[in-house]
Amino acid sequence: MTIGNAQVDLHLHTTASDGRRTPQELVQLLVKRGVRYAAITDHDTTEGLDAAFEEAAKHPGLTLIPGIELSCDIPGSEVHMLGLFMDYRNPELQTTLRRFRDGRAHRGQQMVEKLTALGYLLEWADVQRIANGAAIGRPHVALALMERGYVSSTQEAFDRFLGRNGPAYAEREKMTPVEAIHMISAYKGLAVFAHPTFTENADALISEMCQAGLVGMEVFYKSYPPDVVGYLFRLARKHNLVPCGGTDFHGLSTHGEVEPGTAGPPIEVFTQLERLANAKRSVTTA
Ligand SMILES: [Zn+2]
Ligand SMILES: [Zn+2]
Repeated sequence: MTIGNAQVDLHLHTTASDGRRTPQELVQLLVKRGVRYAAITDHDTTEGLDAAFEEAAKHPGLTLIPGIELSCDIPGSEVHMLGLFMDYRNPELQTTLRRFRDGRAHRGQQMVEKLTALGYLLEWADVQRIANGAAIGRPHVALALMERGYVSSTQEAFDRFLGRNGPAYAEREKMTPVEAIHMISAYKGLAVFAHPTFTENADALISEMCQAGLVGMEVFYKSYPPDVVGYLFRLARKHNLVPCGGTDFHGLSTHGEVEPGTAGPPIEVFTQLERLANAKRSVTTA
C-alpha cells in the first residue's frame, strides 16, 4: 500500500470557491510538483474547470478530471461528498448548482417577505447593504429589523421573528448524503465520501451511502497519519469502496496545509476510477 503517492491528487480547490490560487495557477503548481492525475473539486461550483482545462492542455504530462465537492447535512454533523468525472457542462447540473449558491440569498429574501406580510416593512437592499458582500444570514435580517426600530436587539429579533419556530423563519435548502450521491450519479460522476474522519459515526452512515451508489471514500487525505490511513483503508475494503484521496489544497498557507501531490492514492486507483467512469458514460439513460 502506497501512502502519499505524489502523482495522484483528487481533491483540490481554486478561487472558483474558497481556494487562493486561480485555476491556471493551480494547474501550473500541479505540473511543477509532478502531479500526473488530478481532480479540481470546488465547493458547489464547476466554474473554475474551463480555465483549468485550457491551461492543462498545454501540459500533456497532466491528466485533469472534472470534479466538485458538495456539502450535505445529517443530524448533528456534516458530510462532504466529492463528485469525480462529472459531466459538468450539463445545463441542468449548472442550474441546480446556481440554485445552491443562491440558496442563502433566497432564504434571506423569504424572511423579508414574511416580515413584510406581518407588517414589518423591510427593504431587501438594506439587508444586502448590511451583509456587505458576505453570504446572507439571519443576523443581517435581524440588524435590518433593529435599524428600522422594530426590535431593540438582534436577540429580540430572533426571539420574536427569526428563531426556528418564529413567524418569519425560513428553512435553508438541505441535501442529504444520499441525495448528493444520486445527483452526482445522475450527471455521470463517481461519488466519493470526503475526509470521513470529520463526520461523526461515519462507519454507520457508509452502508446507507453504499446502497445509494457511493463509489469511493477518501483514505489518503492531507496529512492523515499512517494508522488513520490504515484504518480507513480497511474500512473502504470492508464496504467495497475505492480508496481515494488528495490534499484538499486551498493555498491558504495555514498550519497543517500540505502542498498538492503530497497525499493521494496510487495510480492504479486512478485507473480503476477511470474505468468505472467510462462504464458509466457508455450506459445510455432514458
Ligand atoms: Zn470538505
Ligand atoms: Zn475540500
